[in-house]
Amino acid sequence: MPGLSAATVALVEFFNTHYDRYAVRAATPRLTADELAEHLAAFASQDKRIQVAVTGQSAAGRPIHRVMFGSGRRRVLMWTQMHGDEPTATLAALDLLAALTTFDRHSGLETILKEVQVCLIPMLNPDGAAVFQRRTAQGLDINRDARCLRTPEARILKRVHDDFVPDYAFNLHDQNPRYTVGDSQRLTALAFLAPAHDASGKDNIARRRAKRLAATLVHLLTPYIAGHMARFDDTYEPRSFGDAMQGWGTSVVLVESGGWRNDPDKTYLRQLNTVMLLGALHAIAGDECDEIEATAYEALPSNTQYFYDLIFESATLDFGPDIPPIVADIAINLVDNRQHRQVDVVRGRVMDVGDLRDYGAGERWSLAGQRVNGAELHVEVEIDVDALRALAHHIEPL
Ligand SMILES: [Zn+2]
Repeated sequence: MPGLSAATVALVEFFNTHYDRYAVRAATPRLTADELAEHLAAFASQDKRIQVAVTGQSAAGRPIHRVMFGSGRRRVLMWTQMHGDEPTATLAALDLLAALTTFDRHSGLETILKEVQVCLIPMLNPDGAAVFQRRTAQGLDINRDARCLRTPEARILKRVHDDFVPDYAFNLHDQNPRYTVGDSQRLTALAFLAPAHDASGKDNIARRRAKRLAATLVHLLTPYIAGHMARFDDTYEPRSFGDAMQGWGTSVVLVESGGWRNDPDKTYLRQLNTVMLLGALHAIAGDECDEIEATAYEALPSNTQYFYDLIFESATLDFGPDIPPIVADIAINLVDNRQHRQVDVVRGRVMDVGDLRDYGAGERWSLAGQRVNGAELHVEVEIDVDALRALAHHIEPL
């Protein structure tokens, strides 16, 4: 593996193999700010190397924490869940702290603590997390507030950044779980971005280094999810923290946890986030990123949307006597049942109707030879998915 040391590769393997021994199973995607605070307090009391402090308050008065560990000269900032409904990396951050306390004699972790200082803000948007929404209690998107700093949460992130003066930063998010790698039918497990620092699209020193860090992440995860990594859109967005921070001279990488088949709670992606962060810290500890070409990042296909929950192929849409029938495929995404009282009915939203052979799907069904009511299958309409399944036969995915 180019540039990565054998010790870094071995560390990732170790923490991936032994994930069940340290993962914080009590923490789930609907983690609240109170639960987070309890977990952090427990880590801090167990392990004096982990320092936890409240660094500010959200608009609704919830505490925002800053966690510090390590004493090295290389400084790494991480923040999670600036979008309240994107919890995967918050859970991974807890797993990372658990790895430190569970395997406190692990030589790779000792290297990280000696060579790197980490400043972590888990759950920057606790008000959004409380109601599982992207935006803050004041209705703003923190990641469009890096320029004006109108929200208290954005001001906290800016202040922590400016006090800490990091070399590297990890901006940790979740994205739509139905994105695919390029025009393939493979789900994007993780997408990466070394954001632009200005509208020119040219690299400054910080961005060149961020690209090498992004390539490091690709190398770390290739043994596990080759073909399932993509590059996030790099259009310059001056209101985003990644782009702004890159301009302030910190090498920032955005990581988006996407989707994985049959894993709606993203438990596997959480595990990958955990081992990726541990591996990245170890690589940073040994200055390994400096030796890694950006190519592995730059060559990633872009993140696109070529995936639906279900595709029903070759249905004959019937419109009654005045309009002739037509054969078409139907793409459907499941509607979150929590929004409906009738949880026993599986609702889906029709996303597209037509030639959908190039699109991937979690489930493929054939409706060849079956007539269905075309007037009920318009795009955006909600339907009873089981009624359609009952008419179809299942096709194994590719
Ligand atoms: Zn996000």
